[in-house]
Amino acid sequence: LNADHQCDVVVLGAGPGGYTAAFRAADLGKKVILIERFEKIGGVCLNVGCIPSKALLHVSGILNETREMGSHGITFAEPKIDLDGLRGFKNGVIDKLTGGLKQLAKQRKVTILHGVGHFASANHIRITAADGSQSTVQFEHAIIAAGSQPVKLPFIPHDDHRVIDSTGALELADIPKRMLIIGGGIIGLEMAQVYASLGSKITIVELADNIIPGADKDLVRPLLKDIKKRYENIYLGSKVTGVTATADGLDVTFEGKSAPATDRFDRILVAVGRAPNGRKLNLEAAGVTVDQRGFIPVDARMQTNVPHIFAIGDIVGQPMLAHKAVHEGKVAAEVICGMKSAFTPITIPSVAYTDPEIAWAGKTEDQLKEEGIAYEKGAFPWAASGRSLSIGRDEGLTKALFCAETHRLLGVGIVGPNAGELIAEAVLAMEMGADMSDIALTIHPHPTLSETLGFAAEMAEGTITDLL
Ligand code: FAD
Repeated sequence: LNADHQCDVVVLGAGPGGYTAAFRAADLGKKVILIERFEKIGGVCLNVGCIPSKALLHVSGILNETREMGSHGITFAEPKIDLDGLRGFKNGVIDKLTGGLKQLAKQRKVTILHGVGHFASANHIRITAADGSQSTVQFEHAIIAAGSQPVKLPFIPHDDHRVIDSTGALELADIPKRMLIIGGGIIGLEMAQVYASLGSKITIVELADNIIPGADKDLVRPLLKDIKKRYENIYLGSKVTGVTATADGLDVTFEGKSAPATDRFDRILVAVGRAPNGRKLNLEAAGVTVDQRGFIPVDARMQTNVPHIFAIGDIVGQPMLAHKAVHEGKVAAEVICGMKSAFTPITIPSVAYTDPEIAWAGKTEDQLKEEGIAYEKGAFPWAASGRSLSIGRDEGLTKALFCAETHRLLGVGIVGPNAGELIAEAVLAMEMGADMSDIALTIHPHPTLSETLGFAAEMAEGTITDLL
């Protein structure tokens, strides 16, 4: 094969995994080419995922808070919503970050080639640019970081413009009157919150018997209680069986415990998970194994079955999270550069940036029970935290789970404002092998929400018994 470009390391996909890997390999002295089909780099996370959703959730949180200030003696007029302005704010954040990434790539002399890449052999990728022109990259090592995309359901007319996925929801075209969200996971609930605070009436339908099925029920309860009041309907243990698009709306049929037989909505957001892009890269040409679902199996060094080809991020498996992709990207680049790196985290934290936020790391209580691991628990209710009460929020909970034998920290779950920031201390504690007294003896600043982890450890120790 003739090659138009040659490099030491080619990275396919410029999401958080891909750009991290490309920058690390370049910093370690390699000649790097980064291939991305879209004009903007940053992948799902920066363009249609983590960042735009958090920009909108920030605004949504403020809207919610201003509406609840009546109990503090302050009332605001109903806010005026300028969708163009809100969209502009969100897009401005994306542009700043993706522009910054381009600068970082330039400083490192990472070449970015735009177009869709497919493997042509174990050492070549063919790129088709938007204008149809083709070029070929010859590489010594490859890092596949092509990510994932939203799952589609066969009985739903996805081509109707009123049926959207998370990317469509983040475009914020308008504010639908009645919106059905299929899937009560993190992405569905985050988008539900954004649209509810802007004025949409929200219905959520979830197959499992709880929202955010991966988290412990006691952590999810405060959020569920709150959205039961704020949303029109929440159907748990239920599913959509069909959607018919008519001129008047989207007619939906349901089955399950709590859902009606039929209902009509203006918009449907399908948020039932994401599927890896592994079957779209012609990996057979390179001899790289890909499983039925499209995941690429890798070892702890992020190496595929073909030793000079690596894979990272959403395309290698769960959890599909940006911070996992970033760390895997570093490992792949370092292994290629001869370093003894491996991806062996004690835990990868999960966060729902809803209001209240829910964050957890390590083992959940459900997992400890299932696995028959003896544990001790300290669960500190935020109703007993001075800081929590002074911000007008008492629904939170910080739960710490310790090994009954060694008292090592095994898991932490937090629900409440800022849970996503607070979980980082627990992750560090687990990585450092901290035990109950390490956390209980750590002096947390007062009055903060971070104190609640210290209190939870003291409760597990039995050194705090009376709460108020
Ligand atoms: P991606 O970000 O998916 O990037 C892959 C890139 O590869 C894309 O730019 C794509 O265009 C490109 N590509 C694919 N195929 C080709 C090809 N053949 N040729 C050229 N280019 C190609 N995670 C969090 O940790 N925190 C959050 O708060 C969070 N919020 C989210 C909110 C939403 C609405 C969504 C959808 C996701 C969210 N995620 C969040 C998940 C996070 O976005 C992903 O885990 C992360 O982006 C995965 O990174 P990646 O590098 O594996 O791939």
